[in-house]
Amino acid sequence: MMVEKTEFQDKTLICRDCSKEFLFTARDQEFFVTKKFHTPTRCKECRIKRKNMNAGPNLSPQRELYEITCGKCGGKDKVPFKPVEGRVLYCKACYKSIK
Ligand SMILES: [Zn+2]
Ligand SMILES: [Zn+2]
Repeated sequence: MMVEKTEFQDKTLICRDCSKEFLFTARDQEFFVTKKFHTPTRCKECRIKRKNMNAGPNLSPQRELYEITCGKCGGKDKVPFKPVEGRVLYCKACYKSIK
């Protein structure tokens, strides 16, 4: 009688996001078990999609920053608004200490 060497077998799972079938290979299963990961519920594509979504605020437009010279310590800082000419601006640290 043949003894089954690998305890894992390729499994077909259904992605909860796109409802497509995807293969959870024996190799992946082994990897997931050793890493103590949960069984994936999403296909690779959807996992990558979700990862990218959580990766950063790519959707919100980048605010333009203006470089200013601090009127107190002379250090450089950036502000999210256009500095008014002639107005004294402070870097974050000095701004805090003044307030
Ligand atoms: Zn999917
Ligand atoms: Zn300063």
